[in-house]
This record gives sequence, C-alpha cells and structure tokens, in this order.
Amino acid sequence: MFIQENFSLQAHNTFGIAAQARFFVTVTNGEMLLEALAYAQQHHLPLTLLGGGSNVLFTKNIEGLLVQIANKGMVVEKEDEDFVWVRVAAGEVWHDFVQFAVKNNWGGVENLSLIYGTVGAAPMQNIGAYGVEIKAVFEYLEAIELSTQTKKVFDKTACQFGYRQSIFKQSLKNQVVITQVVFKLTKRNHVFNTSYGAIQQVLNEKNLSPSIQNISEAVIHIRQSKLPNPEVLGNAGSFFKNPEIPTEQFLQLQAQYPQIPNYAAEIAGYTKVPAGWLIEQCGWKGKKVGNCGVHKDQALVIVNYGGATGAEIWAVAEAVQQSVAEKFGVVLHPEVNCF
Ligand code: FAD
Ligand code: NAP
Repeated sequence: MFIQENFSLQAHNTFGIAAQARFFVTVTNGEMLLEALAYAQQHHLPLTLLGGGSNVLFTKNIEGLLVQIANKGMVVEKEDEDFVWVRVAAGEVWHDFVQFAVKNNWGGVENLSLIYGTVGAAPMQNIGAYGVEIKAVFEYLEAIELSTQTKKVFDKTACQFGYRQSIFKQSLKNQVVITQVVFKLTKRNHVFNTSYGAIQQVLNEKNLSPSIQNISEAVIHIRQSKLPNPEVLGNAGSFFKNPEIPTEQFLQLQAQYPQIPNYAAEIAGYTKVPAGWLIEQCGWKGKKVGNCGVHKDQALVIVNYGGATGAEIWAVAEAVQQSVAEKFGVVLHPEVNCF
C-alpha cells in the first residue's frame, strides 16, 4: 500500500480545486481497503472517501487519510430469459458501465449515460437524469462498515433512496465504504423512458425509434451540447438539488410568478421547482465573482474559471442560497458534498 503525503487533489476533483490531502491512498481491492482502514485507525487519522471527485467541493485541505476507491470489475452474476444481474466494482467509471450495458443491449441505464464519477458513489445520491434514477435498476450493494470493518449488504429498502438522496448521504454518511453494486437490467421487454422532451426531440430530429443505443446516444448528445465539460471549465454539475416544496407554498409562488416551471415531486403534496430557474430569476446566471461564478447557460452549475478556492466557490453558493431565500422564501440545499 503506497500512502502519499501532502497530496494535491487538483486532478482528483472536477472543480479543479487545489486542496491537499495530508495522506492519500488509492485502493484497488478489498485487501488494500482493509489495510488502509487499519492504518487510519492505528494512526488515529480521520478518514475521507473519494471516487471520481465529481460531486465534491474541497473548501479546505483534508486532514487525515483520503482513500480513493478504484477497484475494478464488471461481471454477470446471474441471468434468466428476461433479466441480467450485473455486479460492478465501486471503482468502475459509471459511464463505462453504462456503455457495457448498452453494448450488450441490456436496458435500464441508457438515460443515465455520461454521468460523471464512479459506480460506488452512484447510490450515494441515487443518481438520476432524464427521468430515471438508479434505484429503478438497483438490486443490492456491498459495503464495509468503518466502525467494525465488516461487510454489510444493503438491499433497495435499506438504502432509503429518495430524490438525490440515500441513507449513505444521511445517517450513514462517512460510515460505510461501498465496494460492489449489483444492478438488474432488462434483456427484453425494455421499458423506455423518453418523457424528458429533449430525448424525444433528438430522436425525432434524427428519425430514430427509441432503443437502448438510440436513447443513450441522444442523452450523450444533449448533455454534450448543454453542460460545461469539467475538463474545460471546473464544475461539479448541479450545485443544488431542485427544491421540493409543499404544493400550497408552490401555489402561492405561482400566483406571484405565473411562469414558474414545476413538476410533480416524488412525495405526495409536494411540487418540484427547478432550482436553475429560481437562481436565474435572482440575476445570478452568468454572474462572475472573482475566479468563479454561475454558468452562463446553466444557472444550477457553479464554475471555477481557474484558480478559485473551494472557500470562494462556497461563498458564491451561499450568496445564491441567500438570494433565492430572500426572493422566493425557498431554501436551496447543496447536492455537492462539501468538505
Ligand atoms: P465523488 O465526488 O468522489 O464522491 C461523492 C460522495 O460520495 C463523497 O461524499 C464521497 O465521500 C462519497 N463516496 C465516493 N465513493 C464512495 C464509496 N465507494 N463508498 C462510500 N462513499 C463514497 N449527478 C446526478 O445524479 N445526475 C447527473 O445527471 C449528474 N450530472 C453531472 C454532470 C457533471 C458535468 C458533473 C461534474 C457531475 C454530475 N453529477 C450528476 C454529479 C456526479 O457525477 C454524481 O454525483 C456521481 O455519482 C459522483 O461520483 P464520484 O465518484 O465522482 O463521487
Ligand atoms: P432541464 O432539462 O433544463 O430541466 C431543468 C430541471 O427541470 C431539471 O433539473 C429537472 O429536474 C426538471 N425537469 C425537466 N423536465 C422534466 C420532466 N419531464 N419531468 C420531471 N422533471 C423535469 O435540465 P438539465 O439541467 O438540462 O438536466 C437534464 C437532466 O440531467 C436532469 O434530469 C438533471 O437532473 C440531470 N443533470 C444532473 C446534474 C447533477 O449534477 N445532478 C447535472 C446535469 C444534469 P430533475 O433534475 O429532477 O430531473
């Protein structure tokens, strides 16, 4: 096990923040992980977990040991005529898994094409896009509980998945390391989700019928044309979750702002309002503050124009939160994990 000291995290977070980890190790198998956990325990080092760094904001240096999860492997665990159960190591790149599924014509994750990060971090916030969340294809996951260093299995119910939420982002935050995830994909009778207008529009423009491959390509096309590429402009995707507010509160807002977009929330009696719209109405879209700011096309994305610190980005996020709270009485909650 190779533990590095005062390790720069700049290349390991999509915001491109030049924070450092006091100690850093990449683990590629279960044995290394247990070794790293034992090392942290022996040396009384706080432990921080990292996958691809696409949903984190480092507002300071990381004290203790930062463990990057990088185990690999994608295998078919079992299959029948209708379904295939694929076991994927936490360190696999999420989009590589999606491409593996698409190539095999297995359905369920095509709408989740081109989401950044690793498979192990995906259940953390029940990743979702274009009308699909991983909970729809999730079977179970394996994790190591930090306090006991023993293996635990979480089925779908145990994960307590919600909108960009799970038990791993709440009561079990920093308590377990997800090591393997098993997904159940369709081999036939696929159920396509083209409810997001943009997908259907791209299929129509290209005169394509919905298929696993075509939907994946449409989503890739839309994402590449709409979202800032972190390799060019540092960002972590949506900084805030779309707020789900009581429908009663929404109706009061609608009376004042008749054009306010809205969607049904997962919870009955609540309405989802796009945070990007609220932020744009507060005049933040395209606003630059020092080396960072709000993206010119996607108000939900905070960007690092180069050289911004995590604290500077966080200050912009707080200012955005304050504006939205003052104008609309709506609290925005960060989706990004801040350290
Ligand atoms: P990291 O950023 O490394 O970590 C995220 C959190 O998970 C941290 O708290 C970390 O401690 C913890 N963690 C990481 N690995 C493990 C593990 N194995 N076990 C336990 N805890 C762990 N998200 C969406 O849901 N939908 C989108 O459409 C989407 N689009 C994006 C677009 C862009 C341009 C970017 C930059 C991000 C986007 N995201 C999206 C956010 C991000 O891609 C996902 O949240 C992704 O799952 C994060 O994976 P990661 O490996 O980079 O996690
Ligand atoms: P968009 O299409 O401009 O829509 C703005 C918001 O409205 C979305 O966030 C979405 O909520 C909601 N919405 C739009 N159409 C909807 C529908 N038919 N049903 C329910 N809700 C709808 O969004 P975008 O920014 O280009 O992103 C497209 C998709 O990619 C979204 O699902 C978004 O969540 C996902 N994405 C996520 C991240 C991230 O970092 N988390 C980054 C980029 C894109 P939902 O977010 O709930 O879907």
